[in-house]
Amino acid sequence: MKKVLISLSQPPVPVVMDADDPMDVLIQCPYCGTLTTVGNTRMISGFVGCDHCYFVPGGLLETTLFVREHEYENYREGRFYKDGFFTNKRKAEIRNDSKD
Ligand SMILES: [Zn+2]
Repeated sequence: MKKVLISLSQPPVPVVMDADDPMDVLIQCPYCGTLTTVGNTRMISGFVGCDHCYFVPGGLLETTLFVREHEYENYREGRFYKDGFFTNKRKAEIRNDSKD
């Protein structure tokens, strides 16, 4: 199976459907599982997400910034990233609820 490297700190991701333009290569987002293209991935600190899981509340951007500030070991080792989008989104919702 053909794979594509989307971040130097993450394992290569299997190609779902190849394309002539490398930005149009279809992959499954390694963070949330949504089908996306290489050109629609977003990265922070080497962790890759997509339009579906990056900018949304509790998404990869917010989660990475939170973990970097409050759980540095977790951030450095990338454990939160392996937990995936839905687990971290739920954790963010619980955090944000407790602020009210
Ligand atoms: Zn995603």
